[in-house]
Amino acid sequence: MARINIADKRKVALVAGGAGFIGSHLCSELLTAGSRVICVDSYLTGSRANLGDLLEDPLFSAVEHDVCDELSFEERIDCVYNLACPASPPSYQADPIHTLMTSVTGTANLLRLAERDGAVFLQASTSEIYGDPEEHPQGEDYWGHVNCTGPRACYDEGKRAAETLCFDTLRAGNVDARVARIFNTYGPHMQPSDGRIISNFIVQALRNEPLTIYGSGLQTRSFCYVSDLVDGLLRLSQRQTNPLGPVNLGNPQEFTVVKLAEMVLSMVRTKSYVVHEALPEDDPQRRRPNIARARELLGWEPKVALEEGLSQTIEWFQGELASARLRRRPGSARPQAQVAALRQDY
Ligand code: NAD
Ligand code: UDP
Repeated sequence: MARINIADKRKVALVAGGAGFIGSHLCSELLTAGSRVICVDSYLTGSRANLGDLLEDPLFSAVEHDVCDELSFEERIDCVYNLACPASPPSYQADPIHTLMTSVTGTANLLRLAERDGAVFLQASTSEIYGDPEEHPQGEDYWGHVNCTGPRACYDEGKRAAETLCFDTLRAGNVDARVARIFNTYGPHMQPSDGRIISNFIVQALRNEPLTIYGSGLQTRSFCYVSDLVDGLLRLSQRQTNPLGPVNLGNPQEFTVVKLAEMVLSMVRTKSYVVHEALPEDDPQRRRPNIARARELLGWEPKVALEEGLSQTIEWFQGELASARLRRRPGSARPQAQVAALRQDY
């Protein structure tokens, strides 16, 4: 692994999950801001392709490592960003025990590293900790409605336990741990075959395949463009004082799945139409963040409207298709087949 000059006083950021969709954008922004960046990733759902030009930057290092195994670095680290965890339902359900251990053991390993160096620790938590919410919109004080034995529990409960680890470590005075509860985020670098709604719909439309709506399509989500989300993560990690509680980061504009399908169909020249498939078990029916806390503490709110973000994401997927990396179907979110396809694509 590359080492920096001891006289170099620039900040050192470690991004676990840095080769993933959000992580790769975060690495890029940190480098632009002048930090040295160490990406730690097992490439389970991320890829070196996401890192692209970053791999040529002398201030960037990519380390292949599973965070479930202990980490040791000689370099002193100023901030640990923990984004390591598969995020799409098909990929986190493909090996649920590993997903759970990634959030629990992986977070504990990374917290130890932050403790050693007195680093700020930023945990990428999720709106999934609210489960299928009975409160709407979801504020940080809501404790959630999660089925702890269902197929989403490996992710939801893993992320909840990771938050517990963060706040217990913070209360013990050992680490300046901060928690971002991220709501559905989209943009370039999403794996075309990972099964999430925006990547599925765009890739299906570009291939003239039917758009797969699960259930009635009346369930809702609120979609945040990746540049807005990364801005929120940086504001939270760089805030002078610890906010002492989780902070929702998401776009409060709420859309039904049907509406999203209509938007994609109107923005892509396609012969696609809509088909309905079974609703996955425990699929949350409504989701929308209350972002009053992020507005107040971070001065943050999303700037990119869905139509604009979709247009940029469509353009990016068009480029991916043109470069012939998309030879496989995105699948319709059936775990094993999708993860197998995903591993072969990249
Ligand atoms: P992603 O799957 O693209 O990225 C996750 C990255 O973590 C991948 O590069 C993967 O290879 C890596 N990884 C997974 N398990 C690992 C392990 N055990 N050790 C090392 N690396 C590992 O997903 P994403 O959408 O970029 O999500 C990033 C983070 O943000 C995740 O923690 C996710 O839970 C959280 N999040 C994302 C969203 C969203 O809508 N994208 C919403 C809520 C929370
Ligand atoms: N969904 C859908 N068709 C797809 C993929 C997802 O209708 O091809 C639905 C899914 O059932 C859920 C919503 O879109 O209600 C968001 O799903 P996604 O997997 O993107 O994220 P999450 O459920 O984790 O919010």
